[in-house]
Amino acid sequence: CHHDGVSKKKVVDELLGGLLPPNMDRRTCRSRYESSQYYKHFPYAASPYLLSKLRAYEARHRRCAPGTPLYAKAIDQLRSNPNRSVESTECRYIVWLPFDGLGNRMLSMVSGFLYALLTDRVLLVDLPQDSSDLFCEPFPGATWLLPPEFHGVVGLDLFRLGPSPDISYTSLVASNRIKNATVATPAYVYLSLGYQMTDGLFFCGDDQRELAKVNWLLLYSDLYFVPSMYAVAEFNDEFRRMFPGEFKESACHLLARYLLHPTNAVWGMVTRYYDTYLAGSDRRIGVQIRMFGFGSIPVNDMYNQILACSRQEHVFPETTDDDDDQDVATTPNSNNNNSTAVAILIASLYPDYYERIRATYYEHAAKGGVRVGVFQPTHEERQATQMLFHNQKALAEIYLLGFCDELVTSGMSTFGYVGSSLAGVRPAILLPAHGHKVPATPCRRAVSMEPCNLTPPRVEMECRGKAVDKEDLARHVKVCEDYDKGVKFF
Ligand code: GDP
Repeated sequence: CHHDGVSKKKVVDELLGGLLPPNMDRRTCRSRYESSQYYKHFPYAASPYLLSKLRAYEARHRRCAPGTPLYAKAIDQLRSNPNRSVESTECRYIVWLPFDGLGNRMLSMVSGFLYALLTDRVLLVDLPQDSSDLFCEPFPGATWLLPPEFHGVVGLDLFRLGPSPDISYTSLVASNRIKNATVATPAYVYLSLGYQMTDGLFFCGDDQRELAKVNWLLLYSDLYFVPSMYAVAEFNDEFRRMFPGEFKESACHLLARYLLHPTNAVWGMVTRYYDTYLAGSDRRIGVQIRMFGFGSIPVNDMYNQILACSRQEHVFPETTDDDDDQDVATTPNSNNNNSTAVAILIASLYPDYYERIRATYYEHAAKGGVRVGVFQPTHEERQATQMLFHNQKALAEIYLLGFCDELVTSGMSTFGYVGSSLAGVRPAILLPAHGHKVPATPCRRAVSMEPCNLTPPRVEMECRGKAVDKEDLARHVKVCEDYDKGVKFF
């Protein structure tokens, strides 16, 4: 595998090679300083340019964060004339709004943060109660939490707007409320970049020049839209300096490790589980099984797909009767403590796959006396994004996947995408059962550790063909393994 050499060396210090800022409080966020002990792979170090961008970002965030005079000024302007921007201020913001499940949210946070880096904005997050104790403050000496008064200042319940087209950027353009010399730039703009991609115009260079004048952008997205930002000519150079050459595969990997740190409550679950069940193994295989309504198949079929994938990609330890060879003689005493131990970690809403895989290794010996433990921290049965405790458990499992040596993930699942990016692993991606038909190919090895943008904008149409250098794009962005309408870096 491409990154083995680097992974084994463990060259990385607790600040991940300067990725994380020094001198933050250890006790309030233990994960920031401890996670380097748990990650297995460090395939990419941040480029010097990315590091300089991050340090500059942190300084800007400190100047502009809630509680500073510049923040107060930006809010005053918004309050005094919410429909028109008075003047461009030193501090311009992008406000992240929650949308969809945790994996989706983490991907849109990372995307919003990269946008802030590219456009010299400040990222603030509007976290609802269900997310209040998930993530640590990522930036030194300042908060990233949007003060709740903000809703009152703009006179909107931002948690309820949804893909609301009438105040979205595209509607403003359509009604000439922006991009019209006689109308002043609006004080804020709502960007609806979710799976419906209401504001595909966002990805056009001309529109980015308009948006640069707007002090407040409200980001509503459940997507990893970074690959589509790359295609915007205005961002392309800057992006390449941050992630030169093959490093573009590390965009989400590095930005997620930089930005998202579980709070102590979540970290307690992660470390208790890891230390108890996973730490003693030589190799940890994470398996994330997501059953979407559109592609549900019976448990047996899914289980067979997992096994077929494992055989194809050589993931699970083989059992002695996988084929009819005479392996019995070579199977040594399995209670030999010197034999290899493999842990299979299952993340799923359901207990079924865990039961079957565990039974397999109970009923059959693994070749070579390998000891196989099978573990699943929870089976929550159904998604409950409104519940903090449910989300904490989901986040803990995403991190446990991030601490695996190898991964099998479910296609089109952002939960799995984040796990792979954190781990720095190219997973074997189980293909979705479109139309409830078991796919002929059980899985594909991912071309990169990057998430798929499941709903890319149709830039050609939206931007009147202007934005893309097709040849360059073809060298960097590919159709996703698991979804032919999605795109990803490779
Ligand atoms: P996606 O729907 O697969 O793209 O992933 P999301 O994370 O956006 O939404 C799925 C949500 O369902 C998660 O955030 C969890 O709330 C829940 N969920 C799905 N799979 C699991 C799992 O394996 N473990 C836990 N604890 N929760 C899960």
